[in-house]
Amino acid sequence: MNIKPKIGVVSCSGECCILGTLSRVATRFILEGVRADTVTLCLPLFLAGDSGEREFAQRFPTVSVDGCHKLCAKKAIEKFSGPTAASVDMEKLLMEWGEEPTGTRKTLSAKDVEFAKRIAQEVAKRVDEAREDQDG
Ligand code: SF4
Repeated sequence: MNIKPKIGVVSCSGECCILGTLSRVATRFILEGVRADTVTLCLPLFLAGDSGEREFAQRFPTVSVDGCHKLCAKKAIEKFSGPTAASVDMEKLLMEWGEEPTGTRKTLSAKDVEFAKRIAQEVAKRVDEAREDQDG
């Protein structure tokens, strides 16, 4: 039987701005279909010191999905569990694409949902690279 190793996709929990909402929505797209063989960690639980969440991030590759340059998810994982396999900074990606969200943190526009899907594809590339490294 071919059992794929686990990969954790961890979004920041940003409630402060639309970028945080986008990071969570992009991560849901990953978990619910784009790469349904991944799992996620609860960042607040991880930060609260949960040993299971922290041990997972020590044992398995993680891909952080952050809304902005502050990189809260990436920094938290690297502080308490070790290096992430890869990270996505959505603010940087949107700047590279010359795009800006048009909705609000509570209500995404149709265009924002398309951004979240596009960001999920970027996350998927990093998940695949992390898996290749594991299989390596
Ligand atoms: S990375 Fe940015 S959007 Fe996400 S929680 Fe931190 S400050 Fe908020």
